[in-house]
Amino acid sequence: MGAMKWSQTLIPTSRQVPAEAVVPSHQLMLRAGLIRSIGAGLYDYLPLGLRVLQRVMNIVREEMNSAGASELLLPALIPMEFYAQTKRDIDYGDNLFKLTDRHGRSSALGPTHEEVITELMKAYVTSYRQLPLNLYQIQTKYRDEFRPRFGVLRCREFLMKDAYSFHVEVEGPGGLNGTYDRMYAAYCRIFDRCGLNYSIVEAESGPIGGSASHEFMCNSPVGEDTILKSDKGNYAANVEKCAIGDRPHDLSGPPTGELTKVHTPNLPGIEGVSDFLKVKPNRMLKTIVWPWMAETSRAREEAGSAPDAGWVIAVVCGHHDVNEGKVRDILRQRIDRSLTLQREDSEAAARAAGFAIGYVSPAAAVGKSDCILIADPDAAQGGFWATGADEMDHHVKHFNWKRDVLDRGVQVHVADIRNAMDGDPSPLNDGGILCASKGIEVGHVFKLGAKYSDAMGFAVLDEKQQKRSVIMGCYGIGIGRIIASAIEMNHDENGIVWPASIAPFDALITPIKYEGEAREVTDRLEAQLTAAGLDVLVDDRDERPGPKFKDADLIGIPIRLTIGDKALAQGCVEMVKRDGSLGKGEMVKIEEVVARCTR
Ligand code: ATP
Ligand code: MG
Repeated sequence: MGAMKWSQTLIPTSRQVPAEAVVPSHQLMLRAGLIRSIGAGLYDYLPLGLRVLQRVMNIVREEMNSAGASELLLPALIPMEFYAQTKRDIDYGDNLFKLTDRHGRSSALGPTHEEVITELMKAYVTSYRQLPLNLYQIQTKYRDEFRPRFGVLRCREFLMKDAYSFHVEVEGPGGLNGTYDRMYAAYCRIFDRCGLNYSIVEAESGPIGGSASHEFMCNSPVGEDTILKSDKGNYAANVEKCAIGDRPHDLSGPPTGELTKVHTPNLPGIEGVSDFLKVKPNRMLKTIVWPWMAETSRAREEAGSAPDAGWVIAVVCGHHDVNEGKVRDILRQRIDRSLTLQREDSEAAARAAGFAIGYVSPAAAVGKSDCILIADPDAAQGGFWATGADEMDHHVKHFNWKRDVLDRGVQVHVADIRNAMDGDPSPLNDGGILCASKGIEVGHVFKLGAKYSDAMGFAVLDEKQQKRSVIMGCYGIGIGRIIASAIEMNHDENGIVWPASIAPFDALITPIKYEGEAREVTDRLEAQLTAAGLDVLVDDRDERPGPKFKDADLIGIPIRLTIGDKALAQGCVEMVKRDGSLGKGEMVKIEEVVARCTR
């Protein structure tokens, strides 16, 4: 990529911390002149920023190519029919950017490209002999994020590397598992090469269930994801997925007193009620109500017969949070495979059905055969409980599972249905304790199964001329997120400290004054270093040394060569490393500079 003169490019550095930026990477990317915002979640990449982007893309390309994937490029503007085939036009929700063209045709700006690539495959791939295939692109994605923030960490237009693999088998040569493992290993190499400190965690695989999924999480306090790792080092998961180890439960304990109704008006949330009742949140039961439906019920409803549907009441302690994915899985795995949770407008639906939302107790299931009551083990205990009174603005004290629920003919399913927390037992039940921390999701690998291929009618013929479902994997990396994450973990109070692999330049030459002998030496070193394969930035600005050094710290180029009269008098230049490994700097003979910079 060669050399560049500062005066001939645009590097608008700034001393001011921009008010809109709250995390270090966002502040530093703005201050170092890498990016500029032009609207919510929309960024210009300036010359320095683009160079970093290109270096990251090169690393990603090298590793994808050597993992056996081949690059293509799909459009960002996609006819809505594509997403309608898989119902993602609805399921993707408000994050999908939709638009209508001059002919009234509806399109979307792609948030990911499963449908587009599956259509492409369907057009050309008909036989098992053509599989497996692994295709990827580095392309602009659009998501109408509810809260774009933290600079390029969460924006509405961003570059993603997305790969899709296609297989006939899960196991064996050419199977999904082999490719998944190769992509997983390639991801490790990519993030290692980019200088990131990351954890690999098990991730939620969504309503299709069963399949494996891992997220690559940069360990950083600014991360929006909560991850839990066992202190034994053998389990890590996103909180959305993290299971909790066995916890004993007991629903048989005797009542602690008579059920007592208390008027609790105008008390939003557990905290308020807890203060008012003088009951700690961990002695209160919190309930969430969802409608459930059997998969066949939509068809039955359309045919005019009664829908096979009802209510799930999920119960956890007041200081815990219900995990919707776990409730969904319990419903399907333990109760009936065909059941799904209805998530949209569930609260309004429950209210319309007579549930006193905000004041529901486990006893709301009494006398209702269509209610499925599920309690977390920590909530399924004896002792004192306060909970809702199944009546607006009222709670009860001395709720008792046996007297108020079991003895009234209601079955209680006890299962892990809450979010894991710091200190919980590891699900491996090996004495490990889960520790919570924050992570930035930079990459995601996912065994999709046949969800997209089946929905879009993409199948191939096997060696016996039998039609076979195509099994897919998908693999995403946020290019911009890598940059911001790298800065989060590689900066100091003066600016960015780039990992050498993704720095915009390898070396910065700073002549104190770009004239006379200093200019000659600068030009010569620039040419020699460039010939040796380094990317060089020359600070040829007519500026005082102070601001030049401050800018050098801010933009964080790994090697800095300062050319001033004192050093020149000894036939030297001063060499400093931005990572501090050369201390305050070292005098290096001009003839030795190239060797020192390239070793
Ligand atoms: P998140 O949970 O952070 O919203 P996601 O799970 O929806 O992300 P994926 O669909 O898995 O994201 O996309 C693959 C990768 O694209 C992510 O791992 C992340 O690195 C990147 N990415 C996703 N959304 C954004 C965004 N709004 N801005 C920048 N990068 C993003
Ligand atoms: Mg993801």
